[in-house]
Amino acid sequence: PRSNLASTLHNLDGRSYGNYKQIRGSYEFGSFTVFIDRVQVDPFASPSKVRIRINRAEAGFPTDITTERADRIAAADFLFRVGNAFLHRNDQRSIILGRPGQEVLERTNVLIDDEGFEARLLVNLPARGRRILGHQAADILTRDVPELAQTMFIYSNLAAAYPPAKDQSGKNQPSQDQPGKNQSSDDLREHVQLHRDQLELQNHLGEEGLLAFIGNGAILPRRSGDSDVPMDSHAVAFTSPSSLEHTFTLSSGRRLTGMAIPRGVTVIVGGGYHGKSTILRALERGVYPHIAGDGREWVITEPSATSIRAEDGRAVTGDDISPFINNLPSGTDTRAFTTTNASGSTSQAANLVEAVEVGARSLLIDEDTSATNFMIRDDRMRALIPADREPITPFVDRIRPLFTHRGVSTVLVAGGSSAFFEVADHVIALDAYVPQEVTEKAHELVGMKSADDTGSAFATPRPRIPTAKALHPGSKTKSAKAKGLGQVQFGKAFIDLTAVSQLVDPQQTTGIAEALEYLAEIFDDQTSLTEALAEVEDMLDAQGVDALTGNRGHPGHVARPRAQEIAAALNRFRGLRLVD
Ligand code: ADP
Ligand code: MG
Repeated sequence: PRSNLASTLHNLDGRSYGNYKQIRGSYEFGSFTVFIDRVQVDPFASPSKVRIRINRAEAGFPTDITTERADRIAAADFLFRVGNAFLHRNDQRSIILGRPGQEVLERTNVLIDDEGFEARLLVNLPARGRRILGHQAADILTRDVPELAQTMFIYSNLAAAYPPAKDQSGKNQPSQDQPGKNQSSDDLREHVQLHRDQLELQNHLGEEGLLAFIGNGAILPRRSGDSDVPMDSHAVAFTSPSSLEHTFTLSSGRRLTGMAIPRGVTVIVGGGYHGKSTILRALERGVYPHIAGDGREWVITEPSATSIRAEDGRAVTGDDISPFINNLPSGTDTRAFTTTNASGSTSQAANLVEAVEVGARSLLIDEDTSATNFMIRDDRMRALIPADREPITPFVDRIRPLFTHRGVSTVLVAGGSSAFFEVADHVIALDAYVPQEVTEKAHELVGMKSADDTGSAFATPRPRIPTAKALHPGSKTKSAKAKGLGQVQFGKAFIDLTAVSQLVDPQQTTGIAEALEYLAEIFDDQTSLTEALAEVEDMLDAQGVDALTGNRGHPGHVARPRAQEIAAALNRFRGLRLVD
């Protein structure tokens, strides 16, 4: 009963902090149940874990938008934003629900399951020095937490709640407030429908042999290098070249017109500062659905697309980079290439073969972050240095076999060299952020009609099999831990993920850490890296992100990473060892 927790907390006022542990357990608050799963040992330890839950019948949400798996992800995301806006408005700092970004991700913070709705909170239990502030704690746990849940999980209350935070510029926000319109519950329905439509469009891409879609009117540039919200007034809205324009009609009746990028090889050219990298970055992010008002709602990329860049200094373990690098003067076998300190070109080759190994069907490559000697070699250099003295087969020679033999498409930004004209199916030129298709002209310049498909085979490398012990760094306790967005601590080692640009949310990094622990149990000297990752994917599809943490009552704040990013962490782990 309510009085129970409240009176316990009042009684604890002034006692030493360790006494908080008495409050572990579950408590009823009207239609809600609060679970205090873990209590922090001191005021500076990581916050206490608290859940609050309500049954479906009492929450009263329409079932048509909270039943399908994808709908639940979108609806949970919406309620997550409602809860956050509430905490923010009330300047409530002791209760942490997690921080939403511009993407809709599958995450543990808010769960919708068959029985009901649940919020997973982190709560800093208050103290003065090392003394319990019991009256404050009672306010937080028996008043504020239930109030938060009332706001998020009682459907009829959504009408009174503010709409969730949207585009802060307010620019692209359709303002269609009608008097009497049930603002937030209508917004919930729109949020779920947008997500459905985005997934439907993403499915269409595969069916129609397309790699990505950018809707007319999309706002691609961001406000600044460290902000993911749309650029304000000066942004030039996207318009498709007419030759690549495509209209989708979705089952909801929504019609979308924009640029469809076909599979194959697409090269984006244009003067410096004309918006090439901005388009590529939007495509990178297009593997995730974006919220209304983001500007990239209709930038949809096929889900396995992976950004490939040079990353000198990274470790590489047993990669077959021989399609790109061979006959090293040292005699090293590049069919199983291992280094603790890769060069620009070898790191980019490794990133590429690893992405393809875990199933990337498209590669996104920007000249700004590529090693030139990996990408191209000009004719004079080919004349000066005989082929057998040059270990590198540049990407320009591999890009077509990669597509024809392995089905892997590429979108490439190349403003500095015409070398890719000959291998491109489509060339798109940007002029002051406006794209035009210039394929014919580019092909004319190099004296050809269309890209041909000769070239040596791009062989499938043999599977890499990690050793059973590869992911047991020794310590008995929990061994993997995310350190912000760009780093995972694994045992005593640190895995640097700062170059992994499609990792977008620190909770995904936590998901990667959890996935590494999960993988550690799968590897048995026989299971390949790709098989193990497929196993993780299947488990996540079937059971959701909670399963990644072993379905602990309170899983913490975890978001689902893609297989590509889990593999990226595994591949960068300096302790990785392979069988053979
Ligand atoms: P490039 O790669 O061609 O050199 P970038 O993509 O880096 O160019 O863009 C250069 C600048 O122009 C960036 O500051 C970016 O934010 C801005 N920009 C890009 N696209 C647009 C757009 N559609 N409208 C307004 N500004 C844009
Ligand atoms: Mg650029």
